[in-house]
Amino acid sequence: MSFDLPPQFDPALPTYWCIFERQHLLLLDRQLPSQQAADWSLSQRLFLGVHSGRNVFLAELVGDLPAMGEWVPLRAALLSLPPEHISLVARAAQVRQFQRTHRFCGRCAFPLSQRAHDHGKCCDSCGQLYYPKLSPAMMVVIYRGRELLLARSPHFAPGVYSALAGFVETGETLEQCVHREVAEEVGIKVNNLRYICSQSWPFPHSLMLGFTAEYESGEICLQPDEIEDAAWFDIDAMPLIPTPISIAYRLLNHTRDWLSGRV
Ligand SMILES: [Zn+2]
Repeated sequence: MSFDLPPQFDPALPTYWCIFERQHLLLLDRQLPSQQAADWSLSQRLFLGVHSGRNVFLAELVGDLPAMGEWVPLRAALLSLPPEHISLVARAAQVRQFQRTHRFCGRCAFPLSQRAHDHGKCCDSCGQLYYPKLSPAMMVVIYRGRELLLARSPHFAPGVYSALAGFVETGETLEQCVHREVAEEVGIKVNNLRYICSQSWPFPHSLMLGFTAEYESGEICLQPDEIEDAAWFDIDAMPLIPTPISIAYRLLNHTRDWLSGRV
């Protein structure tokens, strides 16, 4: 489900409201507020685009929590909302973060102005432009015959393993990032990189790009601090993996299914 970005909202369409309080999202009966919010006292309304046939607005709630409303931690909200709402909420959370952290020009300290036709801001004194930050990161599932290389970092839930991941460094290509992170985290070499899918992830502003890669050479050698354990798992004996809303879940299942039909 894609975002359309018309310059103005369409008054004929219903509306989704993304309303945050610190790192919590306002849900109404476990859903994003829609027409009910017409009666609420809201400030700082910002049109984010059209998604699933609805206008999407970012706003701040003024006053008390509405009846049936609850502040839900952002991660938990993403888990409970329909999957097609993830990109919508991710966009809202990241634009809000940008609004809160870009109030003054970093070059001349003049107050920034909201641009009319996109989500950027501009400095009316020196002309500097600012846009919401986006941090590309890669995730890679490494396969060897019928086995996948999975790893866990110390902050994972007990028993959960996932694919390797890391942020792209300045000046680096995605392919270079995959090779570097794999070498750093588990000490092996890979080849046959294939791009599979991507996901926007608002913690705080990642764009995760998912790859598969084939094992080439080397023995697993863990990077201290980042990786607690890593091992080869047969595709019929996988450990616990991250939740279905994660790109890791999609990527691991895709690779398992692909290998099932191949070997
Ligand atoms: Zn400036």
